[in-house]
Amino acid sequence: MALREFCQVEVRAGEVIKQHKISALPVDPFIVAKNESILCREFEAIAPGISGCLMKVGDKFGIFYSDRFSSDGFRRFTVAHELGHYFLPGHIAYLFSQGNERHESESGFISDDRYEREADAFAAGLLMPGELFKNVAARVKPGPRAVETLSEQCGTSLTATAIRYAKLSDDPITVVCSKDNRVQFAFMSEILKARRGLTWLKRIPGYRKGR
Ligand SMILES: [Zn+2]
Repeated sequence: MALREFCQVEVRAGEVIKQHKISALPVDPFIVAKNESILCREFEAIAPGISGCLMKVGDKFGIFYSDRFSSDGFRRFTVAHELGHYFLPGHIAYLFSQGNERHESESGFISDDRYEREADAFAAGLLMPGELFKNVAARVKPGPRAVETLSEQCGTSLTATAIRYAKLSDDPITVVCSKDNRVQFAFMSEILKARRGLTWLKRIPGYRKGR
C-alpha cells in the first residue's frame, strides 16, 4: 500500500478511536461495533480461507466471523477488519455496489485487493493505535520480546503485532512470514526500506506448492 493511502487509513482509524473515547489498551472492536449498532456473531458455515464477512441489509450492518479461529487475536482482528470496510470512505459503496448484501474477507495480509489491504491496515490502526503502541514499545527492549509484550497488551496475534512493530519502528526491522518454503509476505520498517542495495523478499503471485 502506498504511503499516502496508509496515512489516510491511519487518520480514519485515529478518528474512530477518538470518537469512541478509546484511551487504553486493549481496544475492544466488539464494543466499537456495538456502539455503532452493528451485530457481531460467530458463524460456523463460513468457507475455508474466509475469515469473516460484512453484511448489509438496507441500512443495517452485521459482522460474522469464522468459528475456526484458535486465537482471540485473529477473531478481534477479523472484526476490526470488517469495521474497516464500514468506516473507510468508499468501501461500502464499492463492496455493495451490485446490490449484493454480503462481502467476504480473506484471511490475513495475503490479499492483493486494495480494499482488503486497506481494511487490514485499518484493523491494525484500530487495535494497535500508534501512540499507545509506541508508548509500550518505548518501555521494552527492541526485538522479539517487545513483539510478544505488545501482542499481549493489544490482544493481537504475533503476526499482526510484528507487522505493526516494523511499520512504526525507527529501528531497521524486517518481518518475513513463510509457509511451505514460500514467502507469504515481508514487511520492512521505513528506515530499512531507505537503505540502498536491499533486495526485497517478495511473494510469488499464483505460486502453488509442488509447482
Ligand atoms: Zn474484507
